Amino acid sequence: MRRGKTFIISGPSGVGKSTVLSALLEKRGNVYFSVSATTRDPRPGEENGVHYHFLDVDTFRKWIVNDEFLEYAEYVGNFYGTPKKYVDTAMNQGKDVILDIEVQGAIQVTGKRPDVVRIFIAPPSWAELERRLTERGTDSQEKIQKRLLRAKVEFQTAHTYDYFVINDTVENAVRELDAIMTAEHCKPKERMEIISGR
Ligand code: ADP
Ligand code: 5GP
Repeated sequence: MRRGKTFIISGPSGVGKSTVLSALLEKRGNVYFSVSATTRDPRPGEENGVHYHFLDVDTFRKWIVNDEFLEYAEYVGNFYGTPKKYVDTAMNQGKDVILDIEVQGAIQVTGKRPDVVRIFIAPPSWAELERRLTERGTDSQEKIQKRLLRAKVEFQTAHTYDYFVINDTVENAVRELDAIMTAEHCKPKERMEIISGR
């Protein structure tokens, strides 16, 4: 059976990760998008269990103590973490797993699972990133400035990723992500394992 791979997608808040990933999921089958837990408030339209598991801080801490997270991190005043059990279930079913996580979490996952594929998504310019954050209308000006500051720090780690995608248009970014995922399944090790069993 084809083995699932884990793909980490990192990139500044507002770059378009959620937008691009939901378009990618429509295009590509056999993919599980990992629903993270967070202590931040839901945005309009976000549903518990679909976009995030929205937890209070005490519950989040309990999940940490119970070793429920593959990784977790603090980001601009809130906690975010990847629940372990769903990731493992999906991989065992041969599905690719996508983790939309920031850079500290990406480092933790890479330490535990070195075969993970890491993709950084960047905006075409800083001005465009600020425009997207403002236009989204979900954060105060103060939060937007904090997220932009964090984005500049995160950008300094982009060269450590395996791939770099620029989200100029959603169509281009989806095409490149799709191509990367396909190419990662064409590595000799995986392909030779498939034919060696025939
Ligand atoms: P993230 O998940 O990275 O925080 P979102 O997916 O919420 O970002 O996108 C932030 C805003 O930018 C949204 O209003 C979205 O519609 C818009 N957006 C996303 N991708 C593009 C793009 N390629 N061109 C223009 N606007 C975009
Ligand atoms: P947002 O509040 O905009 O949804 O997410 C803020 C940041 O948290 C984004 O960079 C996003 O990738 C990251 N994030 C979302 N879920 C997780 C998670 O489970 N773990 C970590 N480490 N980061 C996450």
